[in-house]
Amino acid sequence: MAMNAPASRSNLIDGKAFAENLRKQIAADVTLLKSNHGFTPGLAVVLVGEDPASRVYVKNKAAQTVEVGMASFEHKLPPTTGQAELLALVKKLNDDPAVNGILVQLPLPKQIDPQAVLDAIDPAKDVDGFHVVNAGRLATGGEALVPCTPLGCLLLLKDRLGDLSGKRAVVVGRSNIVGKPMAQLLLGESCTVTIAHSRTRDLAAECRRAEILVAAVGKPEMVKGDWVAPGATVIDVGINRIPMPDGKGRLVGDVAFAEAAKHAGAITPVPGGVGPMTIACLLKNTVTAGCRQRGIKL
Ligand code: NDP
Repeated sequence: MAMNAPASRSNLIDGKAFAENLRKQIAADVTLLKSNHGFTPGLAVVLVGEDPASRVYVKNKAAQTVEVGMASFEHKLPPTTGQAELLALVKKLNDDPAVNGILVQLPLPKQIDPQAVLDAIDPAKDVDGFHVVNAGRLATGGEALVPCTPLGCLLLLKDRLGDLSGKRAVVVGRSNIVGKPMAQLLLGESCTVTIAHSRTRDLAAECRRAEILVAAVGKPEMVKGDWVAPGATVIDVGINRIPMPDGKGRLVGDVAFAEAAKHAGAITPVPGGVGPMTIACLLKNTVTAGCRQRGIKL
């Protein structure tokens, strides 16, 4: 696996392998749903415009959807698409019983208000978990669809640590898509949670208190090795491309991996850590959404 520095086998959290197993489990669930209930879960992915990174994400999402045996509905709209047109498509997908999950790829072109579009998605089909209803349910302990990246982080943490109850967790970053839902999930597991952000005083000291440290900042290698308490579990959500002389660039996380791996009890690499979990959790959410819509218990 390509990564930035060696960590001992025992402290490396292999998100790629975990995501592969999760996809196998999802494929098995889909097979059962088809044979026992005549039900094939379906995911609709909407792409507006030509953003190269978004095109790659959408292609990967559709390919993995098909790989686990689900139905994939791809909608590619031109960059000139207006808000009313996109909202009409979302409504059509909301009303389509073959579609159990809807994902509108962000960012959207500037003539479209992303919030208006996210608000228009039926919360029951909101497999990204960005709708205010799902954010509210997550915050109040209800049956939410949970944003995919933090859900993936939680699965990795529970797999490594088992019961998280009582652990001191620090989440660096308070975005609506990663930091806040991550903190809510950890609180739901009865961790003692601190949320740090750009105004936090003495961030290093806050991080050193963590038994679980989640970095979701978007600043290359900002979390240094000596910010990591001995034996802490470090989850690096960051994906940052560093320019290199060869012109290709190199992917690094928000954590200085080589230094941090010397202190951490367990750590995710970049790439190959949290990244692969995101699409796997999108597929998981689609199955969850479909089963809830049809009243099926897996
Ligand atoms: P945002 O830019 O939305 O949020 C970044 C957060 O980091 C903000 O809350 C900000 O604080 C905080 N922050 C910024 N600078 C500092 C600092 N110097 N010290 C402490 N906190 C700081 O980013 P996202 O949450 O969307 O993404 C975070 C990272 O995760 C990015 O690298 C992104 O690429 C990656 N990512 C990876 C995914 C995956 O699939 N693995 C999916 C989604 C994101 P404040 O609120 O005060 O401004």
